[in-house]
Amino acid sequence: MVIYGSIITPLSKRDTLFSDYSLLRVSPLGTIDWVEHEVPPHKLEEALAKHGETVESIASQFRELKRGEWIIPGFVDTHTHAPQFQNNGAGSQFELLDWLKYVTFPEEQKYADVEYAKKMYRRVVRGSLDLGTTMCCWYGTLHLEGTKVLADVLNELGQRAYVGKCNMDRESAPTYQEASADDSLRDTLSFITHVEGLSSQPSQALVRPILTPRFAISCTGPLLQGLGEIAKQHPHLPIQTHISENSAEIAYTKELFPHCATYAAVYDHYGLLRENTILAHGVHLEQSELDLIKSRGAGISHCPTSNFNLRSGAAHVGEWLDNGNKCGLGTDCSGGWTASMITTMQLASVCSKVVSYYTKGDDASITGRFSKTQFAKYQLPIQTVFWLATMGGAEVCCLQDKIGSLEPGKLFDAVHVSILPETDNMHIWYDESESLESMFERFMTNGDERNVSEVWVSGRTVGGRLFK
Ligand SMILES: [Zn+2]
Repeated sequence: MVIYGSIITPLSKRDTLFSDYSLLRVSPLGTIDWVEHEVPPHKLEEALAKHGETVESIASQFRELKRGEWIIPGFVDTHTHAPQFQNNGAGSQFELLDWLKYVTFPEEQKYADVEYAKKMYRRVVRGSLDLGTTMCCWYGTLHLEGTKVLADVLNELGQRAYVGKCNMDRESAPTYQEASADDSLRDTLSFITHVEGLSSQPSQALVRPILTPRFAISCTGPLLQGLGEIAKQHPHLPIQTHISENSAEIAYTKELFPHCATYAAVYDHYGLLRENTILAHGVHLEQSELDLIKSRGAGISHCPTSNFNLRSGAAHVGEWLDNGNKCGLGTDCSGGWTASMITTMQLASVCSKVVSYYTKGDDASITGRFSKTQFAKYQLPIQTVFWLATMGGAEVCCLQDKIGSLEPGKLFDAVHVSILPETDNMHIWYDESESLESMFERFMTNGDERNVSEVWVSGRTVGGRLFK
């Protein structure tokens, strides 16, 4: 496939490439063969000739975009829960610990029924793909068979994913927790074997297993110890968990692990804090924890929708970025009410404005203008929010060499965005004479899934408004 039209892709945390006329070739293997930017119509033949092609030779694979359409890298959702989609939009009267007890655990228990898992997970993954999420870090439930179903569905429908069976052997619900640490560890190893068996080349696999201790409260010391040993034996196995989401949760964690000075120190103590660890929330992380997480190379998933919905707090993401912590965005369904990464970007922007309002104090130098030297105290630029949802997420997943931007050699995980009137999104108003950057800002602010026309993972069409 050869695409000719506008491309928008992150260059850095602060800079985005806005190219009105680009030419991009996708190989039959689903990688980006080459990209040429700034190719207006009168230079098309010349650009093709550089790669030994002509207008005629590529005619059958040529896709031309209109003004108001463009290609972006697919969204990387670094944290969400497949068995909670059924609860999206429910239970927001609770804060975290009661929400788990009264809303979440009762729904997750249903996934003991494999037939229920088959019915629900297909809808969940189909929906996530249609929203433009091309890579996702999924939590299943504690059930081995039900979570195998989730991995199978991801592999079949074609979403790049890390998928984990939850480990939880205490402090959950009498009917929803594992009988022992040994049972949990045994099922975890079975799950890893199953997921790795889905691909003949595990290192190139679309769907990969991820260790998933739910959070420190739900795991006994022996379980965390055992997971640390599995992690040590499998250095490339990623790890995901929650951290410092809610004040009551942090206090209880410290009570359960009195030998650890901080929440982050608990995971570090058990060997679970390393380069491929993904920590969700982190709303109340202390400076010493940010420094520890940075020194281990772990990443943080910022989940603004969920943090607002469960009143967990407004994370100081600008400070994390200034501190050099790896950071991406997560939808965290159903703490967050939507699986849309577009909405999550919008809430990440709002969150940064809230934090700016409360942290700038009477510092008159902090205005609406952005700083070139710091993120803290300022609202995040649109370019930074876009980076978090794409390249930032790729870095958190240690996939920055494969996805997250549209560059030669990377996999073609991408979204065809359209803001044309035919998409029926009445919130987006624009003029065709506007710059691409201006149209992009309107999409970032008022876009939704109606503007996601087509979604590709490794060059394969897997979702979008026009996907049948
Ligand atoms: Zn979560």
